[in-house]
Amino acid sequence: MASIFISHSKRDAETVAAFCNIFARTQLRAVLLEFENYVIPPWTQIKNEVQQASAVFLLLSPELNSSHFTQNWISYEVGLACMSNKPVWVYEQWQNPVQFPVPYLTDYIVFDRNNRAHMDAIKQHVEKYDPNPVLAGLVLGGLAGAAFGGVGAGIGAILGAAVAQPKTSGVSTACPYQNCGIHFRIHSNVPQLLCPACRQVFHLNWLVQADALAANAQPASPQRLFVPYKFPKTDPF
Ligand SMILES: [Zn+2]
Repeated sequence: MASIFISHSKRDAETVAAFCNIFARTQLRAVLLEFENYVIPPWTQIKNEVQQASAVFLLLSPELNSSHFTQNWISYEVGLACMSNKPVWVYEQWQNPVQFPVPYLTDYIVFDRNNRAHMDAIKQHVEKYDPNPVLAGLVLGGLAGAAFGGVGAGIGAILGAAVAQPKTSGVSTACPYQNCGIHFRIHSNVPQLLCPACRQVFHLNWLVQADALAANAQPASPQRLFVPYKFPKTDPF
């Protein structure tokens, strides 16, 4: 069964639950090691799971900074992903930027787990790795159409297939600072961000907004914008 390794803090139960809810509707296995029995010593199974996974999703949460253990394990997991040439998707909560530099990543998202449009966008990221998305879509669409009888079930199946189409998303960007320069895809339409690798603020020039719009589809009121400069900065290295 295809899998995605979820690098996370177990103390951020609400975010973990929101992601698990998305995976529950796919043919993908979400690997969350502390919720399963792992072999001793843990590095062996973590290594195997990361190597077998299609991607690593790193959930940055404020709780990360209260545990050196979690920080070190996450660093280990990101390093394994880099060595295995796996995509690393970094998810940062817009309310809670975390001063946790991630040296290697391929994709970056600022999100609010209470925002439906944001979670729908994340669902599309997950579906990108679903080995059988059309089947999952057909099942969901068929269930939706079943309420309307035979004809409705057929329409539901067609809708389901359309919903399940794999999405290409994200806009390529690069950190402009000479002491960083990391390249990654950003999936959130934010005017500026804290570079996930060096944590320095930079502005985005949105010539191509494309799918990034989907992540912020809700009308944004000023207090809901992600404004990184409002948060305390530390030296990048
Ligand atoms: Zn940077």
